Amino acid sequence: SVTAAMEAIVLYPSPGIGHLISMVELGKLILTHHPSFSIIILTTTASFNTGSTAPYLHHVSSTTPSITFHHLPTIPLNPSSFPSMEAITFELLRLNNPHVRHSLLSLSSTTTTIAAFIIDLFCTPALPLGSEFSIPTYYFFTSGAGCLDCFLYLPSIHQNLTKSFKDLKRDLHFPNLPPIPASDVPKPMLDRSSGEYDCFIDFFTHMPKSDGIIVNTFESLEPKAVEAISDGLCVPNGSTPPVFCIGPLIASDKGRGSGGNTEECLTWLDSQPSRSVVFLCFGSLGLFTAEQLKEIAMGLERSGQRFLWVVRAPPTKTEVLLAGQDPDLDSLLPGGFLDRTKERGLVVKSWAPQVAVLKHDSVGGFVTHCGWNSVLEAVCAGVPMVAWPLYAEQRLNRVLLVQEMKLALWMNESEDGFVTADEVEKRISELMDSEKGKAVKDRVKAASEGAREAMSEGGSSRVALAKLVESWKRS
Ligand code: UDP
Repeated sequence: SVTAAMEAIVLYPSPGIGHLISMVELGKLILTHHPSFSIIILTTTASFNTGSTAPYLHHVSSTTPSITFHHLPTIPLNPSSFPSMEAITFELLRLNNPHVRHSLLSLSSTTTTIAAFIIDLFCTPALPLGSEFSIPTYYFFTSGAGCLDCFLYLPSIHQNLTKSFKDLKRDLHFPNLPPIPASDVPKPMLDRSSGEYDCFIDFFTHMPKSDGIIVNTFESLEPKAVEAISDGLCVPNGSTPPVFCIGPLIASDKGRGSGGNTEECLTWLDSQPSRSVVFLCFGSLGLFTAEQLKEIAMGLERSGQRFLWVVRAPPTKTEVLLAGQDPDLDSLLPGGFLDRTKERGLVVKSWAPQVAVLKHDSVGGFVTHCGWNSVLEAVCAGVPMVAWPLYAEQRLNRVLLVQEMKLALWMNESEDGFVTADEVEKRISELMDSEKGKAVKDRVKAASEGAREAMSEGGSSRVALAKLVESWKRS
């Protein structure tokens, strides 16, 4: 069912719109350098909620014909029988492997060559397929170089430990990075006896065995981490494959259709003063309890700042991984909140066109869950952040963002992750209206300039991309 072409690059992202968007952008980037490649993206349709992708896929197919989607058969899994999002994703991608193998086989028979096979971290079970079919196989690492530094080094820490990270009340030391509390590793890695822990260590151990690691970052954003990885400081025998920092790749701000409250958000922002609005948005999967939502509302109200806030329905006890309903704002937010703040705040349900919002001149701050795409989007738009991590590798990102890159302020939470109204108020005011906030703002401006340079003619990311693509042409 796939059109014949001379040379194809096969991309295999794990489920979740964040991963998918990054892979699509990588595909588009490869095409800018080498337009005659055909890009084939293997997509996994999960039987649980990973964020809505259908309108996005449709948009990409209709605007970039060189990119085609090859849908792998749906594997029915029951989310309630898995302990975490990661656990179900691991199982899904393990079960996917025979289908991926089949796809590579059938693609090889319809296209002359598959010049490269590019997978993301969770798709590690597919790494041996590359060798089996003699296709150069790369990782596309959709988080930053700092996080990659940690991940590549974690197997070495693992070797020298007997305790679980959750019981290790101290900092971890990674090559060229600031100390990171052991409790900041991704949650499913906290317990050494869990299946997810083993999977992660296994993935991190396999990554250096690939033909290269493509990272969605740029050198001047994380120079020390990039250096540690390239110099082989993160793996035991120093044998890191080539690393290609080709970012920042971010989704374009057009074409998400009319969904996602686009008109409402952008029209409202048009009526606000320059750089005055704080944007609060927590990735494709960030959810808060009703109690936490009320607390955020109170903090926002007391801060007196203008805001655009994306609110989702809280998770129900049994359906954490299932599709969320639109929230009932009147019952979730404090009585009269919407009315009292209507002159200076806009609350939208479930989704906002984040890239366009961040780029809007009225936006001056961003409270983020520290998902890497969100971070890069803010960097490109020059918007300073408050870092409030929720899941995945976001706690690691917070340490690096605040302490190393200095592009964000730290949101303080209690042990169980709860953030008080007081803290919300304080941090938002600090970001929008203090010397400390101003310093962060200036650093983000410089980083944003660095991003532009990296992606321009002769810039580090363009050079890295050229090297990568040229190596495929030769082979
Ligand atoms: N996003 C958006 N609107 C929303 C929430 C998320 O456009 O209301 C986009 C955001 O711009 C980013 C992606 O979804 O491109 C989320 O990726 P990220 O890596 O930040 O977080 P994840 O969802 O993977 O945790």
